[in-house]
Amino acid sequence: TEIRIIKGVDSQFMDEKQLSLRLEKASNYVPNNSKLADIGSDHAYLPCALVYQKKIQFAVAGEVVEGPFLTAKEQVKRLGFQAIIDVRLGNGLAVIDLADQITAITICGMGGTLIASILDDGFHAGKLTGGERLILQPNIGEENVRRWLMNHDYQIIAEELLEEDAKLYEIIVAEKSIVQPSYSQSELKFGLELKENYPDLFIKKWQRQLEKEYTILASLEAATSDQKEKIALFKTKIAEIEELIQ
Ligand code: SAM
Repeated sequence: TEIRIIKGVDSQFMDEKQLSLRLEKASNYVPNNSKLADIGSDHAYLPCALVYQKKIQFAVAGEVVEGPFLTAKEQVKRLGFQAIIDVRLGNGLAVIDLADQITAITICGMGGTLIASILDDGFHAGKLTGGERLILQPNIGEENVRRWLMNHDYQIIAEELLEEDAKLYEIIVAEKSIVQPSYSQSELKFGLELKENYPDLFIKKWQRQLEKEYTILASLEAATSDQKEKIALFKTKIAEIEELIQ
């Protein structure tokens, strides 16, 4: 099949050969020879691209919704990758077994709260051995992901900030650590070295957030009911961001 470059279409959904920048950057963190679990794999693009690149031995593509599950299954069948990619219907990490000997897990394109809850459910169900690298790409709520990782002894080994289609995305890569890592409130919220490594994008991201916070503050201040506590909270949040991006 030829490489298709889709112009003018939301590049989130390109194809197995031409991944979106966001998925490509996430896929770069999957080590060679991995046994991968891609959770929330609506088109199975990420595992398919990694098969093309000969980077993975095996993958489970997990999907909780039947429609996207069938799409992923069809995609894998169309490419003839059924022997390498097993598309499974199920919630989060419930689709994997210890027998799969998974060495890398990608969870991309979801909110940070959902990613943290998928990890948490999987952790309690004994699906995480600690031997797998976690490659996580939350669309929002990154702080929840970092906090879950810290509380479960996962060390963040890399972070990336990128822009695609005028949206800003973070990628967080973690591995199990012997000692519990300790991150400050500021690191949990703003990331580890994102400011230093991606100064322009970092300022853009938090400037946008700041504008949202200003709007909320203005509506709280205009409210007729007593909003003193909320106003104080938003002022603190705003001061914190202003200090960071100044
Ligand atoms: N990972 C792809 C990407 O980054 O482009 C797809 C992102 S799409 C926005 C999120 C997908 O995750 C949807 O197909 C959704 O059905 C699936 N999903 C949401 N919650 C899930 C869960 N608990 N377990 C498995 N899949 C889930």
